[in-house]
Amino acid sequence: MVTIIRSLYELQELELVLAETRILHQEAPNTPDTGAVEAKIARSRAKISHEHLRRYDLLRRKHPLAVVRERSGSCSGCNLNVPQGDLNRMRRGEMDWVCPNCARFILLAAD
Ligand SMILES: [Zn+2]
Repeated sequence: MVTIIRSLYELQELELVLAETRILHQEAPNTPDTGAVEAKIARSRAKISHEHLRRYDLLRRKHPLAVVRERSGSCSGCNLNVPQGDLNRMRRGEMDWVCPNCARFILLAAD
């Protein structure tokens, strides 16, 4: 699961960079265009399953961030506590790395 979440997190970073680059490009047309970032996004998406991408895209329409980090047992998306039992199950691979409160993908802190 960690591999999928990391891939989604990278994809999200690239999409955020693309959005920023588009804004910069509008303001200053001489800045590099978005082609390189778009190519990276396409390569990144090709590595992720359709099912995860569909979920990711739905979340991205609803929230600015679809993949958030766990911080000391809390989800940094909704700021609510993730039950310790759920965190343990996620770490053991018995449960998807998804916040039970807000349904965002959650990147667990390494420990
Ligand atoms: Zn949450």
